[in-house]
Amino acid sequence: MDEQHGTTREESGDEAAFRDRVRDWLRDNAPRARDPEGPADPVAEAKDFQARLFDAGLAGLTWPREYGGQGLDNRYRRIFEEEAAAYPLPTSIFLIGFGMCGPTILEHGTEEQKKRYLPPMLRGDELWCQMFSEPGAGSDVAGLQSRAVAIDDGWLLNGQKVWTSGAHYCDFGLVIARTDPDKPKHRGITMFIIDMHADGVVIRPLRQITGEANFNEVFFEDVHLPADDLVGAVDDGWRASITTLMNERVSIGSAGGDRDPIEPFVAAVHDLGLTDDGATRERIAELYVRQRVLRYLGMRLKESLRAGVSPGPLGSVAKLQGSTISQLSSALGVDLHGLDAVSWSAQGDDEDRWAQAVLSSPGSVIAGGTSDIMRNIIGERVLGLPKEPQVDRDVPFREITVGTQR
Ligand SMILES: Cc1cc2nc3c(=O)[nH]c(=O)nc-3n(C[C@H](O)[C@H](O)[C@H](O)COP(=O)(O)OP(=O)(O)OC[C@H]3O[C@@H](n4cnc5c(N)ncnc54)[C@H](O)[C@@H]3O)c2cc1C
Repeated sequence: MDEQHGTTREESGDEAAFRDRVRDWLRDNAPRARDPEGPADPVAEAKDFQARLFDAGLAGLTWPREYGGQGLDNRYRRIFEEEAAAYPLPTSIFLIGFGMCGPTILEHGTEEQKKRYLPPMLRGDELWCQMFSEPGAGSDVAGLQSRAVAIDDGWLLNGQKVWTSGAHYCDFGLVIARTDPDKPKHRGITMFIIDMHADGVVIRPLRQITGEANFNEVFFEDVHLPADDLVGAVDDGWRASITTLMNERVSIGSAGGDRDPIEPFVAAVHDLGLTDDGATRERIAELYVRQRVLRYLGMRLKESLRAGVSPGPLGSVAKLQGSTISQLSSALGVDLHGLDAVSWSAQGDDEDRWAQAVLSSPGSVIAGGTSDIMRNIIGERVLGLPKEPQVDRDVPFREITVGTQR
């Protein structure tokens, strides 16, 4: 069935053979259920799984062969995702590398950078993070104050990032820093690859409401960035950043699109005797419709990215839709399960599912650009509403009031 075009289409022999290969491999290698205790070392477990996936020729399906990928088209990626949806694959720690840093290096990196960094990224041997946000620059990330100054053999980086997901276990990151404060804020920024183990990189985890510490503050104290680790051109980092941010929205927006969003609710209404409750049925139906829309949006987005066509504001539509689903779903989970949703015992699989959903869904409204910002983009670029005033857009950065700069 070719769901993208809403038509029934037999899979080609190659596609069917690929599906069989994926199905067999996952059956023999993928974890079947989430371990309620969690793995002893989740990073090691994820790296081990990704290395086996790579060695089996099933990683980086749509990435070029010369950089470790398989050079296949999106039909194969879709087949893999359909088969993998049944398994809790431990691959979320690779999302930033595969979904944001890799595509940015593919588009803006040098041949040497692609050859050096992409294969170990795909095999999971080297983990990547993305360092854009700062205490004074989140939604308005072009207002960033971290500073890179040219020296003889590269650059010297000083400053601070915040909310850096995974920095504490990552090996490399993409970082953007101001290289020319005399230019307007979008035009004096440069992107670099940074070795997270380099001297002067200080990482401090931030504790979240869930009890976990998935993101960090990262400080740079005279960090030496080799000249070869510049991504794109000097002072042109905003263009590379747009690639990262667009891919981030596509990646976040289309994550989980293959999961069945209503299965736990259907089971719950049966258990609770609510099958005839119209209001609950309506909420479940809304979730189902939204998830289907997101799935098709995700397919369209991935297809346009692969074809080298900018998905434009569609990425923002998908990101907004994904976080709306996350919120509606956690609210319904709590309404159906009441106190059971927020007080749980340590025994049993998935016991804390709704408590975790309630505590983490607000983050989905913020990560990758807040829902307000997504609505601004949709308002301006889809609905044609007047643009937000940007009074500081053409002013030299050093003259504007931003962050700690007065
Ligand atoms: C789970 C999670 C993971 C993250 N991971 C990373 C990461 O790996 N790397 C990274 O660089 N960053 C990361 N971030 C940071 C994220 O990108 C920022 O938090 C986000 O861009 C918002 O910036 P801010 O927190 O500074 O909020 P602000 O920009 O200060 O916004 C505060 C409030 O004002 C609203 N607002 C701001 N400007 C406007 C406007 N123009 N119009 C309307 N409303 C507006 C916002 O919607 C928000 O409600 C992560 C965040 C989360 C929650």
